[in-house]
Amino acid sequence: MANLSLKHIYKVYPNGTKAVNDFNMQIEDKEFIVFVGPSGCGKSTTLRMIAGLEEISAGELKIGDVVVNELEPKERDIAMVFQNYALYPHMTIYDNMAFGLQMQKMPKDEINRRVTEAAEILDITEYLKRKPKEMSGGQRQRVALGRAIVREPKVMLLDEPLSNLDAKLRTQMRSEIVKLHNKLNTTFVYVTHDQVEAMTMGTRIVVMKLGFVQQIDTPKNLYMYPANKFVAGFIGTPQMNFFNGTLKKDGDKVYISFAGSEAKITAPYEMMQKTTPQYLDGEKVVCIGLRAEDISLDPEDIKNSKTNIKVKISHTEELGTETLVYGDINLDYDGIAETETRIIIKAAGFKDFKSGEIVEAALNLSAVHLFDAETEESILPRIPKYNYVDCEIKGGNLTFAGQTVQLPSAIKCEDGKAELLLPPDSITFDGDIPAELESCENVNGTILLALKINGKKLFAISDSEISQQSIKIGVDLKKIIIRKNNEDIVVPMPEINCLSGTFAMEKVVQTVEIDGKLKKKKMPNYYMVIENEKFAAPQDVANKMFGAFSGRKVFNTAFRYEFTPYDFTVGDSGISATVTEVIDYGKEKFLKCSVGENTLYVFTDKPLTGEIKLVPDMTKVSVVEQDREIRIV
Ligand code: ADP
Repeated sequence: MANLSLKHIYKVYPNGTKAVNDFNMQIEDKEFIVFVGPSGCGKSTTLRMIAGLEEISAGELKIGDVVVNELEPKERDIAMVFQNYALYPHMTIYDNMAFGLQMQKMPKDEINRRVTEAAEILDITEYLKRKPKEMSGGQRQRVALGRAIVREPKVMLLDEPLSNLDAKLRTQMRSEIVKLHNKLNTTFVYVTHDQVEAMTMGTRIVVMKLGFVQQIDTPKNLYMYPANKFVAGFIGTPQMNFFNGTLKKDGDKVYISFAGSEAKITAPYEMMQKTTPQYLDGEKVVCIGLRAEDISLDPEDIKNSKTNIKVKISHTEELGTETLVYGDINLDYDGIAETETRIIIKAAGFKDFKSGEIVEAALNLSAVHLFDAETEESILPRIPKYNYVDCEIKGGNLTFAGQTVQLPSAIKCEDGKAELLLPPDSITFDGDIPAELESCENVNGTILLALKINGKKLFAISDSEISQQSIKIGVDLKKIIIRKNNEDIVVPMPEINCLSGTFAMEKVVQTVEIDGKLKKKKMPNYYMVIENEKFAAPQDVANKMFGAFSGRKVFNTAFRYEFTPYDFTVGDSGISATVTEVIDYGKEKFLKCSVGENTLYVFTDKPLTGEIKLVPDMTKVSVVEQDREIRIV
């Protein structure tokens, strides 16, 4: 039983293939995690790095509280089950299961207890005396699981364990492995390319593509809130329908047009409030996604729906409990060709349609998915990037949603009407603007509040769940954007300062205790060198940097060191900086400093000017290797 922590994990194979990029995940004890994605997306590589069968190029892997990067597979307290179960043909099932424990010289009684118990859990007790060739494929896979279980590992790793089995057996083994997970109460990490397997087994699923994690979420959330078009298309059968179209906002309505169709469909603006206004101009092409089950051919639904679209039907596939109806929303097409306007509709029971028949279909817009046509990212994220609000600036005051706040000297802009962009985390709870709580939702650990201020809806992020209806809010003005005629006239204060540097070692004579005696010895000290100044590297940071390279290469590499504005103090020695401006946000002040060619923003409680020395807090540093763009810390 253990949790796993994967931080900035990368795998670069010697031939240069970047198989895994910046994999970050916290796996809780007893979770059933599934890595899923098409062949070559990096799921096995990630699993093999956890197992210790593949070296980790950069990043930190912890099992429980222990960093295991350098530990051998057998020291990691994991057990792995492969697609090829590779049982020893000449040994009995009992011996196959006992073999690993015998090699560890475990007492016979203990081996017997473990094998008997595992056999019972897997329901193979009666076969213990048989040889593998006398067992079916499913039974052999059970033995392979048994061989893993007897080790009583902290983590079970399974790499496509069912892909050698036929479809029926696969379905059966699927539920058996889920049952096994419940019984064993151990953390499972399971790799498959089969989305149905992933959806039915995982408590959480990691969807991967080309070495990058696309989304980590529960099966339900992946289905309901896919983060991009890839996840939307990968999860669910038949595949989600995708159409090109445009969205045009008019007052509190949005008109949705589908390329190739005459349909006039209207949605309430509130439904699309989380999207960026640029998608609502009636021009920008977006990708509209609707699952087959969110389109109905039921006459009752069509009668009651105001969001109907005409479909020319081509053919149907009757699956018994449901029928898949194929057609096209472009009535000039036949619905057989896989055009950009092809539609698949799921209808209950048996349905009979004539080929070429034109029917109405009701769209369930509450389940619509919208994606950027180029980046394919969802444009209806669960947590919106910004709240978009009309505002007016006048005499140093900012008025929005019927409320006025005084602008600090850091924000300088002309009077006039503009658009205010408020990131949800810019809303604070220490102000005096009255707001009503509309809803409070936990989005994977982030608490998202929907608030109403004078009837205007705003999203905010809170540290904890809130239940009181009336609250008071403020705005962290260093995070806002003010936009006028598509130009950002006020931009947020940068949250990250970047400095280039290197990593160095010096041997220093130190007094150390050896065999109870104090002796002088040359010991290595590690430094980060920034702007010709040396700063001692914390031991864990130095370890991670060494871990990312073999040998002395770490000393010949360019790094980008990143700090927030709160990670500096002003001292007598340190990085030489020239203060060019004091940025005053009222509650907080920052120094804008030039350091070589870089600009740094540093939090301050004193409005300093001129030349100063900055000391970065090295325990807060983030490190990126510039060449390979690998985040190391
Ligand atoms: P998956 O398990 O998702 O099918 P893998 O993790 O096996 O994918 O592979 C990810 C990528 O790394 C692929 O492009 C694959 O070709 C490449 N790869 C895997 N193993 C090696 C290797 N030993 N050397 C070089 N490239 C490899």
